[in-house]
Amino acid sequence: MSTTPTRQHYDVVIIGGATSGSSIAWHLATNPEFKGNVLVVERDPSLAYSATKASNNCMRQQFATAINVQIAQYAAEFVKRYGAEFSPDPRDVPFTPSIRSFGYLYLSDSSEFTDVLRKDRDVQAGLGAGTRILSRADVQRRYPFMYTDDLDGASLNVVDEGAFNAWGMAQWLRRTAQASGAEYIANEVTGIEVDEANDRVRSIQLRTGEQITVDTVVNAAGTRAAPVSEMAGIADLPVEARRRYTYIFSVDDSLPQDLPLTIDPSGVHLRSYGANDYLVGCPPIGPDTAVDVDDFSFAEDIWEEKILPVITRRVVRRFASARVTDSWVGHYEFNTFDQNAIVGPHCTLRNFLFCVGFSGHGSQQAPACGRAVAELIVYGRFRTLDLTVLSYDRIVENRPLTERAVI
Ligand SMILES: Cc1cc2nc3c(=O)[nH]c(=O)nc-3n(C[C@H](O)[C@H](O)[C@H](O)COP(=O)(O)OP(=O)(O)OC[C@H]3O[C@@H](n4cnc5c(N)ncnc54)[C@H](O)[C@@H]3O)c2cc1C
Repeated sequence: MSTTPTRQHYDVVIIGGATSGSSIAWHLATNPEFKGNVLVVERDPSLAYSATKASNNCMRQQFATAINVQIAQYAAEFVKRYGAEFSPDPRDVPFTPSIRSFGYLYLSDSSEFTDVLRKDRDVQAGLGAGTRILSRADVQRRYPFMYTDDLDGASLNVVDEGAFNAWGMAQWLRRTAQASGAEYIANEVTGIEVDEANDRVRSIQLRTGEQITVDTVVNAAGTRAAPVSEMAGIADLPVEARRRYTYIFSVDDSLPQDLPLTIDPSGVHLRSYGANDYLVGCPPIGPDTAVDVDDFSFAEDIWEEKILPVITRRVVRRFASARVTDSWVGHYEFNTFDQNAIVGPHCTLRNFLFCVGFSGHGSQQAPACGRAVAELIVYGRFRTLDLTVLSYDRIVENRPLTERAVI
């Protein structure tokens, strides 16, 4: 990938070429009504340290806010339409080219939390999602290998919910956006020039020195979204990097059926990965605070101290033989304000758009949020799903749209 742009002016510059930036580029470049040109600037085209690369590749309908359920519905539609074209990932999605719908199983250990799940189910069911509330006995019957004595109930949906090839999707979006005319460069945006008199971004500066004039700039910079906003004089973007651990492990005695993405009350979540192995993830043991965007160290022995006790208890003796085969630390681009995406223009700098702050669900939100940003650019308004509730204005006006169902 070249480091040098072919033009000195672009209609659209997207900062960040991972799943969000590439979804925006794809929705622009493949829309025949878009007549402009697009430059995507990505500081590390390997995406090795992006949230996109660290993703656990899961998709769900079980959100607490209606807009997130609708966003998830487009994700499922998108992946079912194009999933067969994503690069194959034989380990993670071996049984289907699109969605491995083993569902998400939220376990509840109190009647209060089961009531919350019931309320969320009503939101989801109102939009057509197939979520069901299970009693403890239902969980025991359906997953007889699971320890349930401490449970009050659960919620489960096995329609369009489970695992998909999110990494393959991100690469496919980039590939097909490029093939459709979007230009990508391996470079870094190091400055943004603002025309203060007219409240507009005028140009961006690249690490290699070039100054590019631009009509619209999109911030899709993931965990670096706040420093990128600061370049444009926006000092208060509430997005920070938060450490998340993922392990892949094999067992001698695998389960007789797929394990849904099971969210244990401890915060540990695990699911089937390949045929005989499983994926498990969790936040840190101590306080969940901001970390340096370049710090991917394992700050604690989370496998021994937190994960192993939970999985051997929940899935009883079968997982006592668990052997770790892979592990990584990734960063959520965590929105400290309300854990929801921020999508659309800045309140005064109207040609500076956000597509950031996904707080752990950006792989599945990239199709709908990328489409929404592309619609704002091409038509000046949302045409399919109205994402006004995710606007930056809500932060300025202190109107949080809190997403409780953050994993
Ligand atoms: C451990 C983990 C598990 C997850 N599991 C799931 C899951 O199961 N399902 C789900 O839906 N989501 C999941 N997520 C969240 C999801 O991965 C992210 O929300 C999503 O990938 C965000 O994509 P992005 O393109 O917005 O940001 P990123 O992937 O972080 O990409 C931002 C890009 O911007 C580039 N960039 C930054 N600054 C500049 C600059 N100045 N100039 C040029 N380029 C720049 C970076 O190099 C980077 O490549 C998970 C995240 C983590 C960390």
